[in-house]
Amino acid sequence: MRELEFIEWIQGRSDFDATKVPVGPGDDCAIVRLGDSDLLVTTDQALDGVHFVLAEHGPRAAGRKVMARGLSDVAAMACVPLAAVATATLPRGFPPSDAEELYRGMRDLADEYHCPLVGGDVAGWDGALCLSATVFARRAGVSGGVEPVLRGGARVGDAICVTGTLGGAWKSRKHLEFMPRIAEAVELAISCRIRSMIDISDSLARDLQHICTASGVGAEIVAADVPLNEGSALHDALHDGEDYELLFTVSQAWARKLCDRQPLSVPITRIGTIVKGDGLTLIGADGTQSDLEPTGWEHGT
Ligand SMILES: [Mg+2]
Repeated sequence: MRELEFIEWIQGRSDFDATKVPVGPGDDCAIVRLGDSDLLVTTDQALDGVHFVLAEHGPRAAGRKVMARGLSDVAAMACVPLAAVATATLPRGFPPSDAEELYRGMRDLADEYHCPLVGGDVAGWDGALCLSATVFARRAGVSGGVEPVLRGGARVGDAICVTGTLGGAWKSRKHLEFMPRIAEAVELAISCRIRSMIDISDSLARDLQHICTASGVGAEIVAADVPLNEGSALHDALHDGEDYELLFTVSQAWARKLCDRQPLSVPITRIGTIVKGDGLTLIGADGTQSDLEPTGWEHGT
């Protein structure tokens, strides 16, 4: 069974009391009600040979990456991390100095984001290095006044925007070195009404499809407007994934203001429009329209 099919199968079996679990599986974080506030939680894995190559990237980069993936999911909800727990399944004979590096990779990034690493579990086995990180988060703003941003709020006519530049994240090592966009996401959510948001982990096309599916809409992307990383082609930016930039929708008026003012430390670029329907369309330089397949990074297939 493919990864996405399995997730959909689980979602079909998830039935929660919405007063206790307002958001279950299917967004970047789940939301659990905790008294008068929300507790957000997300969990991510990083596996040797899938999300990193231990022999090439080293243990510190591997530890950093698993923590960064979790923090990026918190950014996608425009929330603030509270604490993290992590697990490491070490190959037999894993050197203690490498285990310490692994921990330092996780811990240094968590510290940078004021997210204490408060616990976890370590085991050994005959397989490759497997890591996981679970990050807990809260609403942003004074007294938690900023509503978490979900994938399902995009409306027909919304502008589609991204932060930063896209494509070639494996080649450039950005997938190991990216900074989760938490401050940027919170600033956006405080300064304007973001209708939907996700972090680009699978790929621009696939993550945009997640927003469209959750919102019951379609999307048009203008090829010439997609911001490319140096050395990347359009195809890389659309389908590579692992950029961990923010992909969000706002009203046309807000998109104009954001693009004019550029309030973040990273560029904001408008790349398209939310439309009626359910699929993705790519508009080429000569105005021709073609279907944009929501393909991207799929692990283990
Ligand atoms: Mg995500």
